[in-house]
Amino acid sequence: MTIEAVDPPKECNRCPRLRNFILDHRENEPDWFNAPVPSFGDKTARLMIVGLAPGLKGANRTGRPFTGDYAGDLLYATLGKFGYTTGNYDKRPDDGLALKGAMITNAVRCVPPQNKPTGEEINNCRPFLINTLNAYDKLKAILVLGRIAHDTFIRALGEKLKDYPFTHAASHELSNGLMLFDSYHCSRYNTNTGRLTEEMFEAVFEKIDNEIR
Ligand code: URA
Repeated sequence: MTIEAVDPPKECNRCPRLRNFILDHRENEPDWFNAPVPSFGDKTARLMIVGLAPGLKGANRTGRPFTGDYAGDLLYATLGKFGYTTGNYDKRPDDGLALKGAMITNAVRCVPPQNKPTGEEINNCRPFLINTLNAYDKLKAILVLGRIAHDTFIRALGEKLKDYPFTHAASHELSNGLMLFDSYHCSRYNTNTGRLTEEMFEAVFEKIDNEIR
């Protein structure tokens, strides 16, 4: 499978609720991306980052994961600090930012109302995650942002959740040889409440660095 073939088609209709949400926004916001958001990053990535789903006025508007989303400010700044970027992140898909050694995808590719995909929607989108994982053949580590991304990733591997419990800053050796790193999601809610600080997030990246570089 080529890397280009692993993103959902623009008119993906696996999740009627998400499809209708997107169609409504195509009417009301015709200049927005309003489609399943493709993965972004380096085809030879060693690190894959799995987020939850596009934000309505962020990735769903811009068409690039985490771009224009509050969570993207911390994620892209941290990727920059750890040497995974070239160019500067400026919240726009044409800001010239590129990733090196890393790529970003989402557990669910379409924006969900209230940022909350249903279990069925997460299941419907998992084949794209599986295909993405299989298409990037230089991967060494996966960073999952939040429990939903963690759980769908473990299920994508056909593994049991009880064997890989989600804990912030935990790492897991997977049966396929990859390392899995857990972090709380870098969402506005988590950073505003102090559940996730910049230091905590960077500590996860340091751990990844020690493992894969
Ligand atoms: N934007 C994304 O693309 N994914 C997230 O998980 C959050 C914001």
